[in-house]
Amino acid sequence: MKRFALIGDPVAYSRSPSLHRTAMSELEIEGEFVAIRVKKENLSDWLKYEGRNNFDGIAITSPHKETIRSFLDGESEVSRLIGAVNTLFWRDKFLVGTNTDAIGALRAIQGIINPVGKRVLLLGAGGAAKAIAFALLTAKAQVSLWNRTPEKALNLAHHFTHNEGKQALIHLQENLQKINPQDFDLVINATLVGLNEWKSLLPEDFWLPSHIAMEVIYTPLETKFLADAAAAGAEIITGDQMLIHQAVEQFHIWHGKEIDPDIMARAFFEN
Ligand code: NDP
Repeated sequence: MKRFALIGDPVAYSRSPSLHRTAMSELEIEGEFVAIRVKKENLSDWLKYEGRNNFDGIAITSPHKETIRSFLDGESEVSRLIGAVNTLFWRDKFLVGTNTDAIGALRAIQGIINPVGKRVLLLGAGGAAKAIAFALLTAKAQVSLWNRTPEKALNLAHHFTHNEGKQALIHLQENLQKINPQDFDLVINATLVGLNEWKSLLPEDFWLPSHIAMEVIYTPLETKFLADAAAAGAEIITGDQMLIHQAVEQFHIWHGKEIDPDIMARAFFEN
């Protein structure tokens, strides 16, 4: 029987285990998927004594996506460029990291629009924002970034500029109040604002019917950010979309098989 784990702190909230369990059962793969709380200070030991010995694949969530990189035998070009790992798999005897958040975000966006040339306002500069910024730049979108802590926004912009060896690829927005809504086609919330609370970083009158609003938070599925956008007639992309599409990619890496996103979606809503 194959064994998989999701590690993070906290992990109890995550829907990933149930998505993977449903997908394995659907394709008649004998396997189990457990969520394990691993504290920051125990990460190295857990990987050495538990992870490496007992699992065929490991999903990584906050706060380990960056620190785990130094404990691996190798990583993919994608996770190296993003600077974060959310998936571990075995390549021969080597434990390798990669990142499926970026492709998950891209597929979620592509379900509604082709991002090429689109003007995107990205809110946040944490792990999720990094993966989304990479996906958008790869897809040749025009990215503007705002973050509460400006230094982190600057670091994120520098990270991608440096990797591409070009001048600034990401435009920085300093003042959220001064942003002109008409300058954007797609607006993405990749912050924690709205997680289990009825708050949005943007004022209700920000939204235009021409906007597309995308959310990374999926608890609740309808955040204030999305509700305000929808009330103004904008299209919305809920947080389950990125999660489901990144899990589909993970499933392919671990099992070498395609799973229909609708099956993962069903698991998301049933559990
Ligand atoms: P991080 O901790 O890496 O980043 C958090 C971000 O939120 C930072 O930009 C932080 O700003 C910002 N933030 C937090 N509080 C506030 C606030 N009060 N006002 C303004 N900005 C704030 O988290 P992640 O990027 O890993 O995760 C973010 C969210 O995305 C989580 O809810 C997570 O569950 C979700 N997620 C969803 C995925 C999906 O597939 N749907 C995939 C990955 C994550 P600052 O830098 O100033 O602290």
